[in-house]
Formats: sequence, structure tokens, C-alpha cells
Amino acid sequence: MTEHIKRYMHEDGTFKIVLVESTHIGRDAYQRLACSPIALSLLTQAMTGALLLISDLKMETTTQLKFEGDGPLGTLIAEANSLGEVRGTAKDLAINFDPLADQGLFQQAIGNGMLQVSRRIKGFDELYNSVVAIEGEIAQTLSRYFVDSQQIPTGIRLGCLLDAEVGVKGAGGIMIQAMPGANENLLFILENRLMEIGDLGAYFAKPNGCEEIMDFLFENMPIKHLADTEVRFHCGCSQARMERVLAGLPKHELAELAQDPAGITISCNFCHHPYQIPSNTLKSMSEEK
Ligand SMILES: [Zn+2]
Repeated sequence: MTEHIKRYMHEDGTFKIVLVESTHIGRDAYQRLACSPIALSLLTQAMTGALLLISDLKMETTTQLKFEGDGPLGTLIAEANSLGEVRGTAKDLAINFDPLADQGLFQQAIGNGMLQVSRRIKGFDELYNSVVAIEGEIAQTLSRYFVDSQQIPTGIRLGCLLDAEVGVKGAGGIMIQAMPGANENLLFILENRLMEIGDLGAYFAKPNGCEEIMDFLFENMPIKHLADTEVRFHCGCSQARMERVLAGLPKHELAELAQDPAGITISCNFCHHPYQIPSNTLKSMSEEK
């Protein structure tokens, strides 16, 4: 089952629309990370948001969203690249609490804090870094990012409907951006429809959910369908990358790790894939310091 970033445009060029399907991305994360329902819902939404952010990039770029707060979840990270590959993790993947009905789930899990958006263009060091305060849920915080850092009026909705067996029944997101010259009345109508659409996760659980969302939001409007990009959960970790991370440890710590002749096993934070690091590799890392 392939999923996509789907791009659309109002015929007069004043509204850009992006839809992201992420049901299977959420299911993949659930299989690899065995996270709690709360962590899975937020992780899937954050990964969907990261895909929305890379949707307009033409160059080979990686975008990382890092939400950091004083709540029990601690940190939530999602990283997507322009090839449509996405991964994510959280500090406490087992997070579990009884959510209050009058406050959003993300707000209760993350507390007060900041979102840092970093963009890396392939072959360059970090080029772009922007920080905004966390405001409401993930979707609202991302809208705030576009308004504050790029001055683009942006409406975002994200949804993740959970399933006891496969983790995620339906997930995805939509973003509507107003370009210069956008009709104020139309903007108002679209903002309202975005609020009224209901649970997006339930739409994405249906085979024709994308069409239903587009029909609900843009009924009788001339909308053009532009390009699609395939998306999938993918972690780019490797033995060499893990060794590079380890090589950053202080000399005495590497020497200590090298003591065990069996070496050590470390697992990737993003996909839990285990990597075996032999003791002689650790020894030569400490000797090179
Ligand atoms: Zn990995």
C-alpha cells in the first residue's frame, strides 16, 4: 500500500493545498517502536507534520521538528526528507496517563516548551534553524511556525485514529496556505471548514478518504491537482552512522566500554534496530582520541 503527499492549487493560484496520507507510516512506527497509544498518536501526527513541511521543497533536504517541553513526554522528534522518507521518536515512548477532556492530548503530554525546526540541505551544514513557542496542539504549533517565520497564513489539521491491533486505523494531515492576493472571504470560509471537518483520522481510515476531504473543503471550487510524492517510514541508520555517534564519546568512556570482550549492542532511537559494536572497534576509537 503506497501513501502520498498530494499537492493541489486553486486555479487562480491564491491557495496551495497539501494532503499527506500517513496511516501506514504510523503502523510501521508502531511495529518498530512498540510505543504506547498516546506516544503513537503524537508521533504519527508529528511525522505527518514533518512531511507537510517538506512538501514544497525542490532540493534534497531533510527537515527535523523537535518539540521540547516540561511535560511527561519530554521530547518529540520527527524527521522527513524530500524523498518522502520519514521517521520519528520521543523521549518517553511508553507514556501513559488519563487525558483530561478539556485539554488537548499533545498539550498535556508536552507541557510548555518550544518547537525547533531545522533544515539541512544535502552536502551543506545546517542552514536554517527556527524556533517557535508550542501553542496548542501539534497542528496549531506548525501553523504558528509558518505565520511567524515565513509570514504565510497557514491552516493545518492533523489526525490519527488508533486501532488496538495494528496501532493506527487512519492517519494523515492537510495544510492550506494563502498566497498573496488570496480572497479574504474564501480564506474565512476555508478556515471554518477546516475547523468543522471533524476527525481527520476517520477520513484517512476510508479508502476514498482523500477525495472526501477535498470534497468537504473545496466543494464547487476550481482546484487543480499537481504532483504527488510517495511517502514511507524509513530510518537511514547504519553501522557506520552508529559508530560515528559513538566516536563522539569522551576517551575514558570509550575505554570503559571496550573492556567487555563481547563488545556492546546499541539500538537506534528511531527504529530500534540493534547494532553490535565489537570491543576492538571501541578500543581503536578511544586510542584515536
Ligand atoms: Zn534506525
